Amino acid sequence: MEIIRTVEWMKQTSRQAEAAGRVIGLVPTMGALHEGHLSLVRAARERCSPVVVSIFVNPKQFGPSEDFQQYPRDLDKDRALLENLNVDYLFVPEAEEIYPRDFRTSVHVQGLSDKFEGRVRPGHFQGVSTVVLKLCEIVRPHFAYFGRKDAQQARIIRQMCTDLNLDSEIVVRPILREPDGLAMSSRNAYLKNDDRRAAQILFQSLDAVRRKIATGAREAGSLLDVLRSTIASERVAELDYAEIVDADSFEPIHFLRGNCLILVAARIGATRLIDNVLVEEHGGNFAVSL
Ligand code: AMP
Repeated sequence: MEIIRTVEWMKQTSRQAEAAGRVIGLVPTMGALHEGHLSLVRAARERCSPVVVSIFVNPKQFGPSEDFQQYPRDLDKDRALLENLNVDYLFVPEAEEIYPRDFRTSVHVQGLSDKFEGRVRPGHFQGVSTVVLKLCEIVRPHFAYFGRKDAQQARIIRQMCTDLNLDSEIVVRPILREPDGLAMSSRNAYLKNDDRRAAQILFQSLDAVRRKIATGAREAGSLLDVLRSTIASERVAELDYAEIVDADSFEPIHFLRGNCLILVAARIGATRLIDNVLVEEHGGNFAVSL
């Protein structure tokens, strides 16, 4: 695995691969890798060669009072994990390499970026869209891999690629979970002792909704009641938002129909966690993917 630190070298390397007719896969990450990230790398490995993984803790997607400084970083461990998966290139630029002093541009996918995570974290998705656009232009991947764990982010990136005519195809992969259901996340490292146990409540609330759907419930209000009361049963948890939205528009829906997402965000002590499930309609039946 070659480690690349400059934009110029990453560009040259990708352009050569492209000229040689190879299929380039990109997995953008902020590092502190876990099995969720690795599942994206494995999916890229199956279809693409070379596979490029980027590790960049993007300052522009953190608010001033957020955890940019504390965000977990462990490059040596990440590197070993990626070497094991036969990743071809690890792109690890410094912040000044991505954002030179006179950097002025920001990408804003309107509407989709302003609700849910975007409302709670103003500017977050502009930071994400801007860096992903840059990565897609530097690497020019045929396929770029994202997790449904960050469903709103994946939807925004897909919209950006369509709107800006990028050639990269966005692939969205399922959520990998811990044995107790907690969605894997680099931020789970913040959960100590009782908070780690309490964090199960997010998955449990979504699983309770899944069971309710299995009994035939279709009305969003009653499904959300189940979700909210499950979260409320955990003393340490503080619900941020819970909503059932159309998977395409991210507009709230009143009855299950088509493809929708059940979104939840909550604070467990000082740690903010998000999770979701995908509900897909097949001929009047609903399949729930946790
Ligand atoms: P991050 O390093 O948090 O920016 O995440 C990098 C990519 O990994 C994003 O596309 C995430 O959605 C994805 N990801 C994070 N956690 C998981 C998970 N538990 N399962 C699948 N993908 C994930």
